Amino acid sequence: MSNCIFCKIIAKEIPCNLIYEDQDVLAFHDINPHAEVHFLIIPKLHIESMLQLNEQHQELMGKIMVLANKLALEHGLAKGYKTQINTGKNGGQEVFHLHVHVLGNK
Ligand code: AMP
Repeated sequence: MSNCIFCKIIAKEIPCNLIYEDQDVLAFHDINPHAEVHFLIIPKLHIESMLQLNEQHQELMGKIMVLANKLALEHGLAKGYKTQINTGKNGGQEVFHLHVHVLGNK
């Protein structure tokens, strides 16, 4: 998606504070953190939101959730953290490329 800011981050057209990358996903710190630790995990596949999910995305979404916990622990959040997925206009979504927020304070 040529006008998607997260696709531009994936394509390295704009920078991010990268935490993790593999062939399927990218994790990076949120540019406007709402907690001591606040990062986003996104699929490299452009999926607009949870509203577009189907059975084909099961493995990918499972991978993202397992990675969320791994990265949260690596960032000192063993006492707990919040995950958030804003979905669609009425769900408060601002960037229409599916992403999982991980937020926590040490
Ligand atoms: P939302 O779509 O409401 O779930 O939120 C989008 C999130 O993306 C917000 O928390 C923004 O601060 C974050 N964000 C937007 N642009 C960037 C960027 N270039 N790098 C990192 N985070 C971003």
